[in-house]
Amino acid sequence: MKQKKLLYAGKAKTVYRTDTKGKLIVEFRDDITAFDGGKKDVLKNKGSYNAEVSAFVFRYLEENGVKTHFVKMLDPRHMVVNELSMIPLEVIVRNIAAGSIVRNYPFKEGSKLNPPVIVIDYKDDSRHDPMLNDDLIVALKLATPQELRKIKKMALEVNALLARLLAAQGITLVDFKIEFGRKGKTICLGDEISMDSMRLWDKKTGESLDKDVYRFNKGDVMAIYNTVATRITRSKKKR
Ligand code: 5GP
Repeated sequence: MKQKKLLYAGKAKTVYRTDTKGKLIVEFRDDITAFDGGKKDVLKNKGSYNAEVSAFVFRYLEENGVKTHFVKMLDPRHMVVNELSMIPLEVIVRNIAAGSIVRNYPFKEGSKLNPPVIVIDYKDDSRHDPMLNDDLIVALKLATPQELRKIKKMALEVNALLARLLAAQGITLVDFKIEFGRKGKTICLGDEISMDSMRLWDKKTGESLDKDVYRFNKGDVMAIYNTVATRITRSKKKR
């Protein structure tokens, strides 16, 4: 497969067309950003750690009946995916109160959210990803009510599967963000699932194992990404 014209360059990934219709290549770069791009760095190998975890998680979800855009890895930082028509929603599932939900609402950090809370933001950096509700999503024609029901159902399935996978490695899935797209009429999981898009805490020590380490200068970001990638992908043998 040959990489062709650049389609889209985001903050940490670049998407290319290929010589095969309907297939794209996603390049996971070493760029890391936080606070709407207010903090930026390039950290060696970060792209490959996130790509490795994303590929592993997409394969695991597919094996468990969740439709994703994942096709295969070309090398440690290039992923082949099926082209989706992306829906500009950031679907966040929260199992434990942390991050913006604690800043914006009277939740105590670390308190359990049972059942999990789904928050959906409008993916638009220029508007700082404002939170949506069902009526706004439908009024803005971002998704039909039927699609929205499907998206929420899939988000909760992903949550249950991921939480189980991570728990087996001693990791608590605090929350995560996923994105969806359409392939014809089918809703599929797109984008990535990595240390950049999940909030993970070590079950024993409570230590952050995700981008919060970078956001809040909590330690050696790449050493932690490396360890977490190994811990997550090791669960392969146990499944
Ligand atoms: P919070 O709203 O607490 O900042 O984020 C909730 C969860 O969604 C965290 O796991 C965070 O990493 C993820 N998340 C929220 N917004 C974004 C985003 O724009 N990009 C990425 N990669 N993850 C996000």
